[in-house]
Amino acid sequence: MPIRDVKGPRIHRRSLLKGMGALALAPLMVGLGGRLANAHPAGQKKKADAVNHRTRLVLLGTTGGMTWWPGSDRASASQVLVVGDAMYVIDLGFGATHRMAQAFNHGKFLTYRGQTIQGDLSNFLAKVRAVFITHMHMDHLGDYPTFLEIGARAGFGVPDKLKIFGPCNRGRLDENVSGYNGMVQMAGVDTPLATPTPGIRQTTDLILQAFATTFNNCTHDENYPEIPNIIDVKEIGDPNGVPWPAGFHVPDPAKIWTRAETCPAMDPFPIYSDDLVKVSAVLVDHAQVYPSFAFRFDTEDGSVVISGDTGPDTKGNMQKLAQGCDVLVHEIIDNIWVEGSFKGAKPGDPAWPLYQHVLSAHTALDDVGKVAASCRAKTLVLSHIGPGNTPVARLRQAQKGFDGRLIIGEDLMQIGVGKALRRTRV
Ligand SMILES: [Zn+2]
Ligand SMILES: [Zn+2]
Repeated sequence: MPIRDVKGPRIHRRSLLKGMGALALAPLMVGLGGRLANAHPAGQKKKADAVNHRTRLVLLGTTGGMTWWPGSDRASASQVLVVGDAMYVIDLGFGATHRMAQAFNHGKFLTYRGQTIQGDLSNFLAKVRAVFITHMHMDHLGDYPTFLEIGARAGFGVPDKLKIFGPCNRGRLDENVSGYNGMVQMAGVDTPLATPTPGIRQTTDLILQAFATTFNNCTHDENYPEIPNIIDVKEIGDPNGVPWPAGFHVPDPAKIWTRAETCPAMDPFPIYSDDLVKVSAVLVDHAQVYPSFAFRFDTEDGSVVISGDTGPDTKGNMQKLAQGCDVLVHEIIDNIWVEGSFKGAKPGDPAWPLYQHVLSAHTALDDVGKVAASCRAKTLVLSHIGPGNTPVARLRQAQKGFDGRLIIGEDLMQIGVGKALRRTRV
């Protein structure tokens, strides 16, 4: 691991890993993640390990925005919900696939002439049934191309296609408040892919096109499954994918994207279900981004909500979605850092639009406790922590207004949902 941030448990972990063989590495990381999830500082007696839960949430990346916060190696937003043998991925921000391998790619090792070597091809993504993308910001999508590229060899989509859910085409450019006038759009072609605001379907097609040389080479020369045939991409808000619920007022593209349009009050609506989970969604307040979703996963063991990126006022949508949930993973931004970073910014300054975005389209650390309380969440997990190097002591102030359990999210942390199946292994 590169240089860690200042938190004690991770430093302890690194010292434990020193000198251990590769054989023990991956399982140990998983186990320690569970211990961190149970909020045990290094050296304290551990409780039930999250790895022993049938349903467990694995945090892969826990920062918002970029991943180059000084003094921190948090990856960007991503998590996996494990339910029995199935895995469900929510967001794939920068660094997510590396964390995914650390958490799940254990491999099988054998001894050959006294050397320990890996004895199989990794297929650690074979259990991934579905991917859910909350919105089209890069810190939630940055590793999506990597996931598609390596995933075809790592087992996903066979025999059942991997389902991928995400936002539909926004349909209209953001209102220009920055002063810059450039626009990215494929030129010289007449195709629906040439749009300034692709949804997850178009984005996926464009990734396959952009990396076609390697995808085709891998299929034709290296026996990779043919990628278009092992994924099934469905856009939320597309009549041919997951349509909006009946009666939903679809925002008028001709109007400015006001908050009333991007986050109207709505009831949660189902987007996916199988024998293990039911997944529902609402729009949240991440203006000007549209659509921007929060997701709820209901399992036999309990419920987990991922807030996505949102301000604190979702017209009651978050409260409806997350009401009484067992685990609420909620984004935060440190409002003290915001005020310090943008001190003196005024309308017309280049920094002003970003200042307004971080203030209004994210949830201040000082407000997240109130949101969790209004949802009657049992456990609040801070993730998408902005900035990524916010000290733990400051993050603990998120407890204000919330009397449930607070967990400060860490990469590779595991959070058990429901009862543990057996006692912790040592
Ligand atoms: Zn984000
Ligand atoms: Zn965002």
